[in-house]
Amino acid sequence: MHVILIGPPASGKGTQAAVLKERFQIAHISTGDMLRAAMKAGTPLGKEAENYMSTGQLVPDELVIKLVLERLKQDDAKSGFLLDGFPRTRAQAEALDEALNQAGKAIDAVVFVDVPDKTVVERITGRRSDPETGAIYHLQFNPPPPEVADRVIQRDDDTEGAVKVRLEKYHNETEPIIPFYREKGVLKEINGLDTPAAVTAAILEVLA
Ligand code: ADP
Repeated sequence: MHVILIGPPASGKGTQAAVLKERFQIAHISTGDMLRAAMKAGTPLGKEAENYMSTGQLVPDELVIKLVLERLKQDDAKSGFLLDGFPRTRAQAEALDEALNQAGKAIDAVVFVDVPDKTVVERITGRRSDPETGAIYHLQFNPPPPEVADRVIQRDDDTEGAVKVRLEKYHNETEPIIPFYREKGVLKEINGLDTPAAVTAAILEVLA
């Protein structure tokens, strides 16, 4: 199975991806996670990506495309993958299409999880994570337990200023690729405002 998860920042893609990965035993390929790992490891790619990411800008297409096409060649991606955070631009969508065509593969579904901008801002500015376990919390909607509360951290790009830029990039660069997939007949639209479990159920239904 070859699935793309698309949606605005904090639409719940990462949460859903973790469930779908387990359920279908396919590779979860998150460009955001890969870029953050590269930053943490201090690789040349990580150093280059850092300035873009911390301000909410997109990392240049050529870097991200190369990263993903290399990742898709790894063994665990051969039997199926779930792309999360890629493609984010028309050029990325076209490069992916071309690579899949060459490999005789095709996208089965593009799951578009949508939430309004207001919700994106609310979710992101309250988002915190536990650096020890990776667990994600929200100061209001899902507060960290007292023993964790002191150590939670905020992502560099989860500040109000960076969120504005991320939303702008999403509307200008990423939304325009939705018709590309709609025309291919693979687009599945999901309301991301429901509870995580209800969103999972809706995704499983469209993938069935
Ligand atoms: P979110 O979906 O919550 O915005 P991600 O973790 O997917 O977060 O991405 C965080 C940042 O990583 C983006 O704002 C961007 O700077 C960079 N990034 C991730 N994926 C891509 C991509 N496909 N193209 C360009 N930049 C990307």
